[in-house]
Amino acid sequence: MRIYRNSLSTMRGVDVLIKKNRSVPIKIQKLNALLRRLPFNHPKKSRLQEELAKSMAGYNGEKSIDFHLSFLDPRAFIILHDIRMDDGDGRYFQIDTLIFSTKFALLLEVKNISGTLIFDRTYNQLLRIINDKEEGFPDPILQVTRQKKQLGEWWVKQKLPLPPISSLIVISNPSTIIKSAPSNQVIHAASLPYHISKLTQQFKEEILTQKEMKKLSSLILKQHVSLDQDLLNQYDILKEDILTGVHCPSCYHIPMQRQRGTWFCHACQSNSIDAHKLALIDYKLLIGDTISNNQFRHFCHISSKSIASKLLAALELEPIGNRKGRKYKL
Ligand SMILES: [Zn+2]
Repeated sequence: MRIYRNSLSTMRGVDVLIKKNRSVPIKIQKLNALLRRLPFNHPKKSRLQEELAKSMAGYNGEKSIDFHLSFLDPRAFIILHDIRMDDGDGRYFQIDTLIFSTKFALLLEVKNISGTLIFDRTYNQLLRIINDKEEGFPDPILQVTRQKKQLGEWWVKQKLPLPPISSLIVISNPSTIIKSAPSNQVIHAASLPYHISKLTQQFKEEILTQKEMKKLSSLILKQHVSLDQDLLNQYDILKEDILTGVHCPSCYHIPMQRQRGTWFCHACQSNSIDAHKLALIDYKLLIGDTISNNQFRHFCHISSKSIASKLLAALELEPIGNRKGRKYKL
């Protein structure tokens, strides 16, 4: 488990406990890998680009609230980002950010949606008006209500005392206009510290001990399962459509050429010692998490078996299987 030090808090001489930091979602990594490895005229490309833009907006929205969270008293709160757990009945629930103290828990659902937003409580829908066009989104209030229930049930199963669980929909885009929404449930990111201090005043009773807080966070970290989608299957893309070859770290041209112990890019004339490592990351993201010498040579366009062996050996990957069918864990 890694405990991250927050720069603002470090300046105040104390540590903030962020036990699960935000990392680039695997879906974004996969979309990027897929987009650079499909021929430029591939029919699925524009759909993948749209999906990437949507995922990036969500990720940037979540990242942008980190600044506001840095104002929290680091001795009092534990913050966990991007949690996904089994609720015990085979359904997964996902939480953008979970904050908890000894007195209460707070669940944040971050939305990066621009335009004017209307939370329609009669029909449980979210309307967005932008450029005179109306568009519907799934109701985030309904979504967090469900998450709260699932988190509460999960919590009780861990045999830990359950503090009150609150939730907030956080609109990360400061220029978004929130029109008609329950004011204690939908907020702009900048007012997050204010809402959290309001909750601190509201809930005074100590429900969890410090030890139980730590136990809770390690249980969540242990039970967290990241969502790993098979994009090829999902978008109906054939494995054969994926371009093989080592891509250039500078200009993304595929393939680079193996020349005198390095990789050479014909497009931008640059050299790289270890560009095959990036190709192996793409291989893992798109094809599989083990690779044989043969598969490595085919994917990276290496003709010599002994050079491939040397490159693989230098990566110190864990070997699986006997000599003949040996594969390496990526
Ligand atoms: Zn290049």
